[in-house]
Amino acid sequence: MTMNIQNLKPVYESKFGVPAEFAVRAPGRVNLIGEHTDYNDGYVFPCALDFNVTILGSPRNDNTVRAYSVTFDEMCEFSLNNLSVRDKAWCNYVKGVGYVLQPEGYHLKGMDILIAGNVPLGSGLSSSAAMEVASCLAYETAGGFDIDPVKRALIGQRAEREYVGVQCGIMDQFISSLGRKSHALFIDTRTLGYEAVPLPESGVSIVIGNTNKPRQLVGSEYNDRRNECYRARDVIRKDLPRVKELRDVTSEELERYAPQMDEKAYKRARHVISEDERVLESISALKSGDVKRFGELMNQSHDSLRDDYKVSCRELDVMVEAARKVKGTLGSRMTGAGFGGCTVSLVKDESVERFQKEVGEEYVKLTNLKPDFFVCKASDGARRIF
Ligand code: ADP
Ligand code: MG
Repeated sequence: MTMNIQNLKPVYESKFGVPAEFAVRAPGRVNLIGEHTDYNDGYVFPCALDFNVTILGSPRNDNTVRAYSVTFDEMCEFSLNNLSVRDKAWCNYVKGVGYVLQPEGYHLKGMDILIAGNVPLGSGLSSSAAMEVASCLAYETAGGFDIDPVKRALIGQRAEREYVGVQCGIMDQFISSLGRKSHALFIDTRTLGYEAVPLPESGVSIVIGNTNKPRQLVGSEYNDRRNECYRARDVIRKDLPRVKELRDVTSEELERYAPQMDEKAYKRARHVISEDERVLESISALKSGDVKRFGELMNQSHDSLRDDYKVSCRELDVMVEAARKVKGTLGSRMTGAGFGGCTVSLVKDESVERFQKEVGEEYVKLTNLKPDFFVCKASDGARRIF
């Protein structure tokens, strides 16, 4: 299904019998570096993609929301008077945003909306955040109010945590809401301060590789990682009260307290703390035009996620190893939460075609799975189209 608005308009009319009065869009994202740092108050460095969730809509004069998903070819209808009952999985993102907005005092209006999207579902490019942020913008447009983009991100995150039930950090909704064309966003997840850092205009490309490995049931693994991080934090905090999260701990401090920790807690903390340092160094490398160093830091990030944080998997490792063998690859790592999903690589422009061919062949040979590759165009965050 093409995401072209002109093609979606007639679909909207055939479903709802009237023309759409507005359209909004919110992108998926890829995180370039800074993985599993956000729930430790750390740093992340994602960019918004030119894949998005697009919502066409018209306000209604009652409290009914009718939502049609192009992806699932399914209609879902609910009342704004009764948002607490969970619905079809895809519809919960729309419903959940309403559920969070209402007690904040926003006067929501009913609406008829069509939802289309081309962010691959469940691949770690955060189609869920795109759904939440686009849904928020749809409520704003139908209801005739405006929410500040940072607050919009927080609303989306709360919908995911409180309604969908995924204990995510703020990164995904933040970049979907505030992304900027040709830039990646350096985000301090503690203060929500951010800085748009220009990506190289030419010379290198960011290539995303989807392993197409179906994600396993890994919710409990993520909870384990989180708790291991908190165990390490607590050991240090007992002695250094200024430490609120691992973000406040230096590598030297971690080494000093290591003997008091269990092995797992130590290794998880070592990843988080070194990853924060790598994000900071990545930003200065990019600012000084040192893309080679940025690539090296991406490689180190993957190795740390694989060996210390243990959230990689064979498919991700195979793809990353194959990527690193290609001449012209500056760096390659898994991106997103792990256990499947995507890799992100920094590749010299002239090698991008060869990269896709060689990594693709090697990956198919070793895994029997067919990968997808996308050359990433850093794009703007959520916006109204009309
Ligand atoms: P990710 O965020 O990594 O893509 P999630 O499991 O968090 O994976 O979110 C994927 C879910 O979001 C889908 O299963 C679906 O319920 C919903 N979703 C994402 N994009 C769309 C879309 N275009 N239309 C309907 N639902 C979508
Ligand atoms: Mg998600």
